[in-house]
Amino acid sequence: MNKTIFRSVLLACCIVMMFSLAVTLLFLNSYFIDIEFDNLRAQAEFTAQAVDKVGLEYFESFSSDIYRITWIEADGNVIFDSDADEAAMENHLDRDEIREALAYGHGQDRRLSDTLSRETLYSAVRISDGSVVRLSVTQASVLRITLGVIPYMLAVLVLALVLCMFISRRISRRIIDPLNRLDLDRPLENETYEELSPLLVRIDNQNRQIEKQIDTIRTRQKEFDSITDNMREGMIILNKADLVVSMNTSAMKLFGGSPSVIGKNILVLDRSVELMGALEEVKKKGRSEYFFERNGFVNRLIANLIQDDNGRTLGTCILIVDETEKVLSEGMRKEFSANVSHELKTPLHSILASSELLMNNLVKESDKMGFIGRIHSEAEHLVTLIEDIIRLSQLDETKEFPKEDVSMKEVVTSVTEALGGYARDRGVAIECDVQDVSFTGVQRLVYEIVFNLVDNAIRYNREGGHVWIAASAVDDGVRLVVRDDGIGIPKEHQARIFERFYRVDTSHSRSTGGTGLGLSIVKHAAMVMHSTVELESSEGKGSVFTLTFPKQGG
Ligand code: ADP
Repeated sequence: MNKTIFRSVLLACCIVMMFSLAVTLLFLNSYFIDIEFDNLRAQAEFTAQAVDKVGLEYFESFSSDIYRITWIEADGNVIFDSDADEAAMENHLDRDEIREALAYGHGQDRRLSDTLSRETLYSAVRISDGSVVRLSVTQASVLRITLGVIPYMLAVLVLALVLCMFISRRISRRIIDPLNRLDLDRPLENETYEELSPLLVRIDNQNRQIEKQIDTIRTRQKEFDSITDNMREGMIILNKADLVVSMNTSAMKLFGGSPSVIGKNILVLDRSVELMGALEEVKKKGRSEYFFERNGFVNRLIANLIQDDNGRTLGTCILIVDETEKVLSEGMRKEFSANVSHELKTPLHSILASSELLMNNLVKESDKMGFIGRIHSEAEHLVTLIEDIIRLSQLDETKEFPKEDVSMKEVVTSVTEALGGYARDRGVAIECDVQDVSFTGVQRLVYEIVFNLVDNAIRYNREGGHVWIAASAVDDGVRLVVRDDGIGIPKEHQARIFERFYRVDTSHSRSTGGTGLGLSIVKHAAMVMHSTVELESSEGKGSVFTLTFPKQGG
């Protein structure tokens, strides 16, 4: 820019100088002509006086390289000419300077000479006898004078040029230096020449607009980040070249990435054949999907192409959904169905076998009652089993249970009434320390929880054993504790006894009428009321089940 301004100013100066030189030469030429006319007239008047006095003899002594002298009679006839043969010369009455001189005493003209064919200045003076003496000089002499000035002028021109260069450099610096020093972040605080003010005001306005736009973009980015970061699903946005544009927290956790991955190729994070295949497929088909396992979780990756309104590809959006629960529950469902069939088959086989023997009269009369009793107890077991399965499936399917005020004392009383006979039969004593506490929950489910826990505490006890039921108010809730001094649960089984159909000792459970579903029902029902089940147990000493129901139990 500095050079451009310098060159422009210099060029402008040169043009102005050349123009000035040409105009000056023109003026000088015309000025020199005026001077030459004045000289010529003085010479002509001097010569005219001499001729007037001396007559034709004056010309004998006249000699000049510069001037030409012509003497013309009043009728235009040439009497004498210093450069031409007067006898051959035509009448001069039509010459402007002659006519003027005859009329006014003096006349002058500038024209191409007929005789010499050169631009000539003429000055004519009338003398006393009415004739005219004329002096003329060619303009070449004037031009010579003018051209003689040119070397001086060129010298001045060179000097002026040097001066121009110096001034141009200073001007360009004075324009450019303040521009280079401008603080474009705070344009209005610059102290500079006035002409820059409109530009600085505009820059300031634009700066403010840019700041506003950046603020808006930042706010949108924050909104986008907080939405995507709170998503449980992983989300990755790639540009056309598969470089990561955005990646939420879930995706970072899953792939073990960090914010430094932004701007890098997605394959830096994961080089798996599946991902490469998915990226290729998404470009061909617009969508691709696959399952992968990581850190014990099963994930579904869905990649979708992002396109603009004109169908141009902008990038790819990848969603990673945790499908572990779905896959697990699918597996659990399959396992549950297999278990149910198995659990149903055992008593049914027993019923079938006993009834067949009876039908075919293959049982001794004295044993018949025993067979009938077995059929009855297996049928009873089937009913209990089916009831438990129904209860569990109700718990699985029901999303919302109607809530009510649950009195723990009432529930425990009805459970002890229902199980009192069973406890007596097994020689187990039930002791209660239940305060009159209540909370918001599902009465039927609380009953099932207490029933199953007390039922187990009796079932897995021994003759002379005890069951203690306690309920009390705790911080913002009600605590239920069912303790027994029965057989206890070995450590290695404690984590699994809440699984469906899991039993520590299958034959003991079956023989005592257990279904293997009691604690699953307890756990599920407790979850409905946002309560957890804690277990403490040691083999041979007994078990303690503790549940805390929140005051507003869900
Ligand atoms: P079940 O119908 O077999 O009792 P549960 O789901 O109620 O099924 O219990 C699972 C297993 O946990 C039982 O088979 C038993 O082995 C063990 N168990 C449950 N409660 C107790 C307890 N109070 N004392 C000892 N073992 C228990």
